[in-house]
Amino acid sequence: MTNSPEYWRKCTSCKSLIGFGQKYWICSVSTCNRVRTGLVFCKVDCFDAHVPVLNHKDAGAIEKRAPSAAEWMREQSESESVRPQPSASTAHAETKRDILVVVSKTKDYVRAKAGLNTSENVMEVLSDKIRAILDDGIRRAIQDGRKTLMDRDFK
Ligand SMILES: [Zn+2]
Ligand SMILES: [Zn+2]
Repeated sequence: MTNSPEYWRKCTSCKSLIGFGQKYWICSVSTCNRVRTGLVFCKVDCFDAHVPVLNHKDAGAIEKRAPSAAEWMREQSESESVRPQPSASTAHAETKRDILVVVSKTKDYVRAKAGLNTSENVMEVLSDKIRAILDDGIRRAIQDGRKTLMDRDFK
């Protein structure tokens, strides 16, 4: 276990520290919220400064609250485990690479379509793509304030 860090993240725009339990904002554009990108802003002004940089058309700032130090530490240690989170956090889903497709059906499809065999690691690539599509849909459902992911989140 590492020592508890002093702060949670740094603001993407002004680099000031975002402490644990502090309010922060994220960009509503899904590509700004990938786990590896994860843009965070300490205030709405910093978010506003980010919008013209990336040429967003209709981006919005979404208010969030940073986890407490204890929560964050727990999250770090749990991200290794496979326990799925009921929350909207995509960090957990993205850290493990479960296969989300039905392997036999996928292989059948490719064989029927073109007579090709399908290599095993194609399933990982497909699963990553599905996760990316799901993440976008999840983001939309959350913005809509829903608890259910729906077909319209993918349109
Ligand atoms: Zn800032
Ligand atoms: Zn953005």
